[in-house]
Amino acid sequence: MAVTRSDLYQRARRLIPGGVNSPVRAMRAVGLDEPLFMRSGAGALIEDVNGNRYVDWVLSWGPLLFGHADAATLAAVEEALRRGTTFGAPTEGEVELAQEIVDAVPSIEMVRMTSSGTEAAMSAVRLARAATGRDRLIKFAGNYHGHVDALLASAGSGLMTLGIPSTPGVPRGVAGETIVLPYNDVDAVAAAVARYGEGLAAIIVEPVAGNMGVVPPEPGFLEALRTLCDACGALLVFDEVITGFRVARGGAQERFGVRPDITVLGKIVGGGLPAAAFGGRAELMERLAPVGDVYQAGTLSGNPLAVAAGTSVLRRLRDPAVYEALEARGARLEAGLAPFGCVQRVGAMMTLFCQDGPVRDDADAARSDTERYGALFRHVLARGVYLAPSQFECMFVSLAHGDEEIDRTIEAVGGFFGH
Ligand SMILES: *Cc1c(COP(=O)(O)O)cnc(C)c1O
Repeated sequence: MAVTRSDLYQRARRLIPGGVNSPVRAMRAVGLDEPLFMRSGAGALIEDVNGNRYVDWVLSWGPLLFGHADAATLAAVEEALRRGTTFGAPTEGEVELAQEIVDAVPSIEMVRMTSSGTEAAMSAVRLARAATGRDRLIKFAGNYHGHVDALLASAGSGLMTLGIPSTPGVPRGVAGETIVLPYNDVDAVAAAVARYGEGLAAIIVEPVAGNMGVVPPEPGFLEALRTLCDACGALLVFDEVITGFRVARGGAQERFGVRPDITVLGKIVGGGLPAAAFGGRAELMERLAPVGDVYQAGTLSGNPLAVAAGTSVLRRLRDPAVYEALEARGARLEAGLAPFGCVQRVGAMMTLFCQDGPVRDDADAARSDTERYGALFRHVLARGVYLAPSQFECMFVSLAHGDEEIDRTIEAVGGFFGH
């Protein structure tokens, strides 16, 4: 007999806290008593250990822009794999990926690789503090920047889903340097900058929020952050871990025309393997050791398999047809789901909020009917559609999602709402 989800969960929960290696996977927010255990994926489809297949809108939380087991990505990884998995020394692949990133992202002249978005965000904050000689940060409620101590206040989905505003284990002094403001609230930022600007190292923002569900920046919001940072000498950090290579090849900074000082990348940049990065102007990035005095390092940073996957994906994004296709598929999905709630979408990231909307910040997002969302999740899961297991996450569109997968999804969701 093949192993089942229940067998695995019984074993996992004795060995791993909650049976999962990242809390939102537990799927408690949508009323499941056991997480799904996945076995394989192909294109837009994912298969669990019980042999059920689903149209996958989670896509490992965003990285898989070409879908699961994408042939070109696998070939690139296989080729790298045969040469060895890690050397702890520079390789050609890292240089190639760095070139792709610098070519694509408007504000990046130099980039440093890490293994996770968390590490990249943590390093970006350290660099901003070193460069300004200041400690204080502004972040936005409902934005997530990885589980970095200083950035865990009001940190979006993972915590919103569990109903915890922040977490024990973060020293009071560290959290005390972080000012948390409502997203899209220019007046609140202006007031905080007027009061704390002299000690402000950075404003860090998801330029399109994805961790309280999709919340686009209102016109003028990102521009105002740029102006306010310039006025007080703080750095503007865009966390483009989700939006990078997704809402445009050059990320949200290309789509909205605002340049940050430091950009944090993850998810798509690793092509589905563990890789992330942060980058900016050369003079700023050269504050990092060994050129400068700001220490930052990683045993597996720039891992050969991860950079092979990332490079394979990023090279294909030079073709504008990629973003036309993502836009068209996103628009089709949006049009189909619009009758059933408040749909918010930017390019290939989208959320169906169970409420009338609009959702412009975390307080608005929190007004969603999460019970109803949970019921919707379970209804469509039973019909072969895997939505994000939390109201406060995105649906991720990939190039593997064709009209058939999109229409099946619309039909399954419509069925729940009695259409
Ligand atoms: C996923 C995410 C991170 C953290 O990346 P990890 O690789 O999970 O550490 C940071 N910022 C944003 C916006 C994210 O969505």
